[in-house]
Amino acid sequence: MTSSRLWAAIIGASLAPSFAFAQSSPVSIDNTLAAKVIEWRRDIHQHPELGNQETRTAGLVADHLKSLGMEVRTGIAVTGVVGFLEGGKPGPTIALRADMDALPVTEQVDLPFKSEATARLDGKEVGVMHACGHDGHVAMLMGAAEQLAAMRDELHGNILFIFQPAEEGMSNVDSWGAKQMLDEGIFDDYAPEAIFGIHLGTNLHTGTVAYRSGPILASSDSFEIRVKGRQTHGGLPWNGIDPIVTASQIVTNSQSIVSRQVDLSSAPAVISYGIIDGGLRQNIIPDEVRMEGTIRNFDMDIRSQVLESLTRVAESTAQAQGAEAEVHIHEGYPVTVNDPQLTEKMLTVLREVVGDDKVIETALRMPSEDFSYYAQEVPGMFVMLGATPADTPLSEAAPNHSPHFNIDEEALETGTNLLVNWAMRYSESET
Ligand SMILES: [Zn+2]
Ligand SMILES: [Zn+2]
Repeated sequence: MTSSRLWAAIIGASLAPSFAFAQSSPVSIDNTLAAKVIEWRRDIHQHPELGNQETRTAGLVADHLKSLGMEVRTGIAVTGVVGFLEGGKPGPTIALRADMDALPVTEQVDLPFKSEATARLDGKEVGVMHACGHDGHVAMLMGAAEQLAAMRDELHGNILFIFQPAEEGMSNVDSWGAKQMLDEGIFDDYAPEAIFGIHLGTNLHTGTVAYRSGPILASSDSFEIRVKGRQTHGGLPWNGIDPIVTASQIVTNSQSIVSRQVDLSSAPAVISYGIIDGGLRQNIIPDEVRMEGTIRNFDMDIRSQVLESLTRVAESTAQAQGAEAEVHIHEGYPVTVNDPQLTEKMLTVLREVVGDDKVIETALRMPSEDFSYYAQEVPGMFVMLGATPADTPLSEAAPNHSPHFNIDEEALETGTNLLVNWAMRYSESET
């Protein structure tokens, strides 16, 4: 805590309750803005764009932010856009983030604004759909920008609006999305001291928000192991080196990394193989077996340990058989961690905006998010916002990434209000 902030805390405490932020009542967007948010979402839904191709979406966002009188930068990390809103009163800068990309999924939902879009992906023609709710994320943040710009005179501090591309990942470039936005210096240039994000999901009912202090989403890394033996006749295995037996031992031995070598009492971990590929005929032992898999973690130290151990176990198991294992680890997104102090502080606002009974503490969740990169730089808070109507059983709601994924647009107003109130109240409480 800086000394000025310490003073503010002391003064704030002595002047409570008029100073304490728990006294303000939450701001709600009006019906006109709520309707605009839905309109933007439908327009973006009908015109989805894959990662790093979000030019139309980025154009809509940039025009909107400029119309609100903000300083806007475009073309960051290919198609990313940031807007900077200066508040009328002094205070810290915080960031609000939305992701803009859609998925290579062909929409199966019968909507008047259904996506008919297609795109080229790795040389193939694919359907494109907002099957992860990022259309809603963009619309909510555009709505929050409009509301906050209208309230800028009352705003203590500044807001950095981040609209980033390619959250779902890219296969043909080394760096993209959040990481690339950071590499291109958005945090150096605008120096936010906290960041907030929301993800829509159909695994919760509309308006319910799931939060968690500390780790919330897993890290996700993939690996490829090439086991090299020496080809021979299946009836005379002693004349060669069998990569199939070796590969099976690697699969089995690597299971003991999670069960025997890492401290499972502090955080769970998963190693799964998804591909084993080798051989052409029942009576030929092949030269090589290729395997691929995924690794999930909730603790970055355990993650490093798992990655190191996998390489060691694969190489030494192969060596014991006279074979060779080449291990390639492709590091994916880090663990998404919600800063405990920030979460505790802003939970009050969350409860006031969505209602106590709609806030739930979630268990660890296995998907990963590149919001994690921002939250490695500054305290972050990332929550899940439900978008399945109350009368639909959650078991019947199509999950994110399904061609049947469909959000209840009522959730968008809640999400927009949440972003607005986080922004207003964070700054109030700091100044
Ligand atoms: Zn997704
Ligand atoms: Zn997503």
